[in-house]
Amino acid sequence: MVTTHNLGFPRIGARRELKFAQEAFWKGQITEEELQITGTDLRRQHWHSQRNLDRVPVGDFSFYDQVLDMSFTLGNLPKRVKETGGSTLDRYFRVARGRSGQEFSCCGVQAGEMTKWFDTNYHYIVPEFQRDTRFRLNADRLVEQIAEARAQGLSPKPVIIGPVTYLWLGKAKDESDRLTLLESLLPVYSELLDLLADHSVDWVQVDEPALVTDLDADWRHAFSLAYHHLKASTPKLLVTTYFGELRENLQLACELPVAGLHLDAISARQEVARVADWLLPHKQLSLGVINGRNIWRTDLEETLDWLEPVHEKLGNRLWLAPSCSLLHVPVDLASEETLDPEIRSWLAFAIQKLDELNILATALNHGRTAVRKQLAESAAAVSSRKTSEQVHNPSVRARTADISPALGQRRSPYPERTTAQQQKLGLPCFPTTTIGSFPQTRDIRQARLQFRKGELTEAAYTQRIREEVRHCIAEQEALGLDVLVHGEAERNDMVEYFGEQLAGYAFSQFGWVQSYGSRCVKPPILFGDISRPRAMTVEWIRYAQSLTEKPLKGMLTGPVTILNWSFVRDDQPRRESCQQLALAIREEVLDLEAAGVGIIQIDEAALREGLPLRKSDWNEYLDWAIQAFRIAANGVRDETQIHTHMCYSQFNDIIEAIARMDADVITIETSRSDMELLDAFRGFQYPNSIGPGVYDIHSPNIPDSEQIRSLMVKAAERIPAERLWVNPDCGLKTRQWEEVIPALRSMVAAARGLREGVQ
Ligand code: GLN
Ligand code: ZN
Repeated sequence: MVTTHNLGFPRIGARRELKFAQEAFWKGQITEEELQITGTDLRRQHWHSQRNLDRVPVGDFSFYDQVLDMSFTLGNLPKRVKETGGSTLDRYFRVARGRSGQEFSCCGVQAGEMTKWFDTNYHYIVPEFQRDTRFRLNADRLVEQIAEARAQGLSPKPVIIGPVTYLWLGKAKDESDRLTLLESLLPVYSELLDLLADHSVDWVQVDEPALVTDLDADWRHAFSLAYHHLKASTPKLLVTTYFGELRENLQLACELPVAGLHLDAISARQEVARVADWLLPHKQLSLGVINGRNIWRTDLEETLDWLEPVHEKLGNRLWLAPSCSLLHVPVDLASEETLDPEIRSWLAFAIQKLDELNILATALNHGRTAVRKQLAESAAAVSSRKTSEQVHNPSVRARTADISPALGQRRSPYPERTTAQQQKLGLPCFPTTTIGSFPQTRDIRQARLQFRKGELTEAAYTQRIREEVRHCIAEQEALGLDVLVHGEAERNDMVEYFGEQLAGYAFSQFGWVQSYGSRCVKPPILFGDISRPRAMTVEWIRYAQSLTEKPLKGMLTGPVTILNWSFVRDDQPRRESCQQLALAIREEVLDLEAAGVGIIQIDEAALREGLPLRKSDWNEYLDWAIQAFRIAANGVRDETQIHTHMCYSQFNDIIEAIARMDADVITIETSRSDMELLDAFRGFQYPNSIGPGVYDIHSPNIPDSEQIRSLMVKAAERIPAERLWVNPDCGLKTRQWEEVIPALRSMVAAARGLREGVQ
């Protein structure tokens, strides 16, 4: 018999119960005890949904983040939090977000740094290390939850982050090498495993996804060292890898002295046979056969076609699981009532994915006939998706087949364009602008909600947004900004807004996934060929332009960002979906230009997020991603100025690719790193204009103009002054007007001061 298990279940709840409980606790509306009860209830429900599995994960539930949980299990709290009062949970939230419940500002501490979990949109709290970091076991959480799962009659498999990946995910706060901590960390892991054995745990899932990344010799050696140390412990270890191929780490992973290995057979299918060959006969092989990162139903028959021979070879040594934790998918498709029934029949959320897993296991254990009906259903869904007219649009296909490199090419090189643009726009030097959005006030969100519920007519809603646009333009004129924006009041979200207007997109009601802490996103579902039935933004931009003599910048989201923040179809390469998006955005760009809009910004906030885990795969991604941007942007005349915006400061390693986008102006985050980003320009002459963000919009602090001025002076040491713009580092939608006005006033004053310096 094959063994079925799961690496992790989404923790937020089918109705985001966890989010609401967390936020209520932070606001002081519920007690810690009440929050704990919500946690217990959610875990019970989640295990109930997983009751058909041979083993259920324990320890995957988290009140904020599983990496932070591991830091607490290992007693690795930052010093600044250790001495603070309250409960363990209070300290936990202080690391997570700077403060626990309703605390006076006196008790706040600096929150832990947050960063992306591998190549997903989940963010974890980065463990902090120092030369003198000491670890101390606290396994209470795990031990309690093991008992809870047992009380439900289930067989618990605790989930922990392995020692090497734990160090790999963290950051040394001094100059020390965090690998030197391995020696003192391992005894704590041994202690943990012994304790789990005392609680009759036979298998422990030890997550080591660092094995799918580029590792140098020291890190590879750390793996051997760590597992030789842990091999004496009683419970059997299942080392889990996911999100990619093992490649040059394959042999290392297979040879670790552990009882089992999990391989992501979705992203590393071609390694299955080799791993099955290599693994010593006493080891178990767990295969991730259901995609844990998308929302598509599995082609069960196709899976069985390759899986049956592996089963034949491995017999009882074969375990089956989703490819990775189901943290990255929504909970339950059964909640969805408004999706088109045909599209709905192609989807599987976490609960449906576990059903699929059980069908596969039954087919292996008892033959396909035992699940004939379920296989037929799966096959019908697969074939309907393959042939549906909702998915396949021959005219879109014809247009993408016609794409030539010329489509991504501006008519003239930058120096000629900039002269034409300057003649038309007549901007001062150090021109000032913003990134697009202005505060999304409560009032606007309320109006949108009323409109969606049918309590506000479309005309009344449009009127309300128009007022907001008018207000936004008036404020920008009063501030004396040079290039204005309409403020994006009509947009709930920079991707969803476009997705809703494109053919080929669908939307779920409850398809939430955790991004970090209590923050969830509901990615739109890109299921079919993409086309743009009608202009999406032109009316708003035209209206805004009619209110001012100043140049107005039209705002779009770029194809790569739309792609990276959606659930994307898996029946064609991402590159092709991106091309289709690029053609749709290109049409919008050309419509804006035809409507007299002289400056168009195409945001690629998420371009860097799409970078593959392995550096050797970067170029392939960057080639098609940059080409998609160029197709979207570069059909315009010389005098039309193209801007783009990116949200991250580490772009030194992709600066040349960014230059290839050939945007006339790029605005980019830099303020938090004190213009460190500009180091990228030491070795590389960025050819076009750039607006390094001069203040951090994520903070409520108001910058003074002297601060801004000195940042710009620094920038001018690297980039010629005539190619510099002055702007905040991201959109202002999360801020209040009371913060935005004085901050922008400082910014405009700083730009004016700089201009005087130049004359
Ligand atoms: N134009 C968008 C805004 O201003 C950009 C947001 C982003 O970069 N994430 O909100
Ligand atoms: Zn941004």
